[in-house]
Amino acid sequence: MTNLSDVIVPTSPEDAAAAFGDGAGITVLAGGTILMPELKLGRLKPARTLYLGRAGLDGIDRSGATYRIGAMTPVSQLVDAGPEPLSSFAAHVADYEIRRRATIGGNLCAPPGETAPRGDLQAPLIALGARVRSTGAGGERTEPVDDFLADGTDGRLVLEIEVDEPKRAATAGVRRPHAHAYSILAVAAAETADGVRVAVLGAGPRALRVASVERALAAGASIDAAAEKVLDDVQPGDDALASGWYRREVLPGLVSRALRDLS
Ligand SMILES: Cc1cc2nc3c(=O)[nH]c(=O)nc-3n(C[C@H](O)[C@H](O)[C@H](O)COP(=O)(O)OP(=O)(O)OC[C@H]3O[C@@H](n4cnc5c(N)ncnc54)[C@H](O)[C@@H]3O)c2cc1C
Repeated sequence: MTNLSDVIVPTSPEDAAAAFGDGAGITVLAGGTILMPELKLGRLKPARTLYLGRAGLDGIDRSGATYRIGAMTPVSQLVDAGPEPLSSFAAHVADYEIRRRATIGGNLCAPPGETAPRGDLQAPLIALGARVRSTGAGGERTEPVDDFLADGTDGRLVLEIEVDEPKRAATAGVRRPHAHAYSILAVAAAETADGVRVAVLGAGPRALRVASVERALAAGASIDAAAEKVLDDVQPGDDALASGWYRREVLPGLVSRALRDLS
């Protein structure tokens, strides 16, 4: 393990987990597309930084219908080799240069953006029912992505994300035709072994599963009636990209479109 004063550069997943410990006082640096500007502008002054670039945490390992995706896997690799709807969401993250550096672990753990939604890949991971393997206080554990996000990502080092190929998948979104524009609102839907799962990005500080929609569908509601339920689960707010009013108006239609594509 290389130790450059306050930057730790582990060379294996085990070293990374040992160096992270319980996470106290450690800032994890992955692709750096969010962190580097913060460091450069002096807005973030970490006591110790754990750089994961050589930790051997990248790569997609597919066995049958199951994908094991290392936390350091670049978003660009997911475009070509990830399951839907993860692959489609990955294709809409920024531009090629950013996607080559940005990682799935950094996207999952992206702090909420102040001016725009961030962490686009959270939505397809929730829709797919992904499992997150992480380490930190209490040791290693694997948990559903919903639980991982609900608990807050601070204090955990993501090692790997596991997803199963869904029977069907669909997406719908409102985005601006500019490589550096963030998604305004996006919906990921997947038919998994546990039924249809739906998640929304851009209607809160992080992506959310919309269980009311899923329950209505399972109970036999029409697609449009089920889609209207989305506003029971999320309360979209204003940011620099769009108003909460606009998002509330558009969201049921997007959910409906994704569900129609799924059927
Ligand atoms: C021009 C531009 C456009 C962008 N457009 C988009 C967009 O359209 N959609 C979008 O979602 N994002 C966008 N981003 C933000 C960013 O590129 C992505 O969210 C990216 O996936 C973050 O990954 P990273 O590896 O660069 O994270 P980093 O910057 O290295 O880290 C981000 C956060 O995650 C934490 N972290 C990283 N890896 C781990 C891990 N393994 N375990 C625990 N914590 C970890 C870090 O400590 C930090 O808090 C954009 C950024 C730029 C500069």
